Amino acid sequence: MTALVLVEHADTEPDRLSLEALSLAASLGEPVEALAIGRWSTPLAGRLAGRGIGTVHVVDDPRLAAFAPAAWAATIVQLAAARSASVVIAAGSDRGNEVMAHVGAKMDLPMAANVTEILGGSPLRLVRQRWAGSLLEESTLDAPTKLLTIAPHAVAVAEPAAGAAPSLAPFTPDLAEADLAVAVARRLEPDRSGVSLADARVVVGGGRGVGSAEGFAQLDELAALLGGTVGVARVVTSAGWRPHAQQVGQTGTRIAPDLYIACGISGAIQHMVGARSAKAILAINTDRDAPMVTRATYAVIGDLHTVLPAIIAGVRAAR
Ligand SMILES: Cc1cc2nc3c(=O)[nH]c(=O)nc-3n(C[C@H](O)[C@H](O)[C@H](O)COP(=O)(O)OP(=O)(O)OC[C@H]3O[C@@H](n4cnc5c(N)ncnc54)[C@H](O)[C@@H]3O)c2cc1C
Repeated sequence: MTALVLVEHADTEPDRLSLEALSLAASLGEPVEALAIGRWSTPLAGRLAGRGIGTVHVVDDPRLAAFAPAAWAATIVQLAAARSASVVIAAGSDRGNEVMAHVGAKMDLPMAANVTEILGGSPLRLVRQRWAGSLLEESTLDAPTKLLTIAPHAVAVAEPAAGAAPSLAPFTPDLAEADLAVAVARRLEPDRSGVSLADARVVVGGGRGVGSAEGFAQLDELAALLGGTVGVARVVTSAGWRPHAQQVGQTGTRIAPDLYIACGISGAIQHMVGARSAKAILAINTDRDAPMVTRATYAVIGDLHTVLPAIIAGVRAAR
């Protein structure tokens, strides 16, 4: 019996959500093997030492250099069969959920998304988030191969132990043309800050209160000063002021920064789903009764276009 974990990565660094998936996989008490797909998969595999992985299966196929969900899923299905995997786990990222949905369809098996805890037993008992994380459900998964994704930021990343690096095993999937019909062709909005929203230690968030696309210049400036990045509410992406890639929330990215500076954001439940793992929130809002203000660690009641320049000047002076 083997647990197979898909490890997503940016260049040679494993994504934090995949490390969370590996941490939960370790709680199964079964041998854990990993799958890394893409151009940097070989150097990445060497960086997974001390995480309880016996083997990293490396798929360094140029056809998979760009994300191609059906092809990734075909790869997982073939590797799971070759390794007799009893459990297949991916991060609860957009990609992880998309790929595992394809895997479920190909294998004609159920897929449990947003798992927070594995309780064990047969059929497998799980705890998972439902309704955008507003409730926890205990459920059972009865399938020959259990397919799971892990709720973002619900599981602590275990520190790597001292130990041998996993062995590397090249894997060549048998892909059909149809598997490659959908693939990332180009990126419209490269992240200029170089800091990913999901991993940023500081996020400066902007909502309708920012007022315009131009109004985000102050948020960009503060984010750059603090080594963070900008995140936005959905009305901002709907208005075309910022790309969807920067949206925080139920239908956007889930963030877990040390500090979330929420400017002109009311704090609707669908937004807070994505921000609930922030360690501290500084709300800047004209409405002292806005839900974001009542949930914040600190709040400044005022016009963000007055407050932000003062904060920026203060940070510059402190430097
Ligand atoms: C199925 C579904 C999924 C959704 N998914 C998401 C999601 O992923 N992410 C998301 O964000 N939303 C999502 N939404 C939308 C969500 O319900 C809210 O509509 C949205 O979050 C509101 O954005 P906002 O806070 O910027 O705007 P508003 O609610 O209009 O709030 C604006 C805030 O700015 C303040 N303000 C105004 N001017 C100033 C100023 N000059 N200075 C300081 N403060 C000011 C106001 O007091 C107010 O609190 C979803 C909705 C649905 C139905």
